[in-house]
Amino acid sequence: MPDKPKVAFYWCASCGGCEEAVVDLAEDILKVVEAVDIVLWPVAMDFKKTDVEARSDKSIVAAFINGAIRTSEQEEWVRLLRRKSQVVVSFGACANSGGIPALANQFKKEDILKFVYEDAPGIDNPKKTRPQLESQDEGRTLTLPELRAMVRSLDQVIDVDYYLPGCPPTPKIIMAAVGALLSGKLPTRGAVLSPDVALCEECPRKDSKPADLALTEFKRPHQVQIDPEKCLLAQGLICMGPATRGGCEALCPAGNMACTGCFGPTSRVKDQGAKFVSSVFSNIVSKEEKEIDSVLDGIPDPIGTFYRYGLSKCLLRRKLN
Ligand code: SF4
Ligand code: SF4
Repeated sequence: MPDKPKVAFYWCASCGGCEEAVVDLAEDILKVVEAVDIVLWPVAMDFKKTDVEARSDKSIVAAFINGAIRTSEQEEWVRLLRRKSQVVVSFGACANSGGIPALANQFKKEDILKFVYEDAPGIDNPKKTRPQLESQDEGRTLTLPELRAMVRSLDQVIDVDYYLPGCPPTPKIIMAAVGALLSGKLPTRGAVLSPDVALCEECPRKDSKPADLALTEFKRPHQVQIDPEKCLLAQGLICMGPATRGGCEALCPAGNMACTGCFGPTSRVKDQGAKFVSSVFSNIVSKEEKEIDSVLDGIPDPIGTFYRYGLSKCLLRRKLN
């Protein structure tokens, strides 16, 4: 019997939701397991780094890597997997564009460590102890990975062949990608494996989205009784649909929640947050600076709102002090 294609799954700086997404394939996971030979999946199986190092280069057909790159260890792992794999698939929003971990790029590394180990509520650390890169314990040297100054997307560290968007990618697009991979019917390298249309196109509320939103205020979800039929932006809620790629079948608007942009931008958009701001803010009714400022006060966390998943790929990328 011919060898089954070898596949690896790996995680970097992520919450584990992308791993859950694989398990969420439900009975379809049996078809995947039947068709491939999993040679690395730290969340579920006990493979070691030495197992991967021992493999010949390009012997893994595809490596699915989720999570952003924050530490020296993650850099080492993804470089190793790049060497050993024919195809690398960037899996999910954090790998694609930094995701939630990249929101840390608003702060200096020292400030993050100080907050986490000294100042955060509930911390009891009178000696201000911090993890050390190297320490001694009963004659052994223990080492820890180094935290890098910035959170990067996977393709800012290694070459990536394909991208699966989402936080996490949906079972439907995962299965479509696995099917394309196994059949060899993959699109051009560099493609995002999801429809290249704005989310509004597939939203059940799209017919109620006016051409001019005529915005007079922005509201947060707890401040409004949401009409389940009407476009969320037209109700004054920040819905990232116009600047976000489709493919999730508008899961959030269909569930009465605004889209937060996890599928990233379409191919025609360079900066998802800037695209949203430029297309939607021109719909603010007032032209008076003070009134516009008061409308914008309805968005208390602009970076977390417009770049929730994409600060590593934002044109500005990080806050400089
Ligand atoms: S803005 Fe949001 S709610 Fe309105 S049509 Fe687009 S995705 Fe749907
Ligand atoms: S609606 Fe937006 S936030 Fe929700 S899954 Fe789709 S792309 Fe992600």
